[in-house]
Amino acid sequence: MSGRARARACPERTCVGCRDRAAKKDLLRIVAVEGVCVPDRRGTLPGRGAYVHPTPVCLDLAVRRRAFPRAFRGPGALDTTDVRRYVEQGEQASP
Ligand SMILES: [Zn+2]
Repeated sequence: MSGRARARACPERTCVGCRDRAAKKDLLRIVAVEGVCVPDRRGTLPGRGAYVHPTPVCLDLAVRRRAFPRAFRGPGALDTTDVRRYVEQGEQASP
């Protein structure tokens, strides 16, 4: 991926799971609230955000890479239960 060619009005972010760039609207923003990763559905929660494709695959990759503690500069493991539930529900809702 060379990127940077066509930025335009569509902001891009990097998925912390697969490390691919994608349109911000196609990624799920995640913020850490007191050691718990929370899916920021509306993109309105304050604080440092991490972006991931809303799929179990990318979430797994992100967890395995410890991408969330790194992104949030947290001391250690973060609870991703809420995010996982959200992602798994999303998979079922949209084929
Ligand atoms: Zn991804």
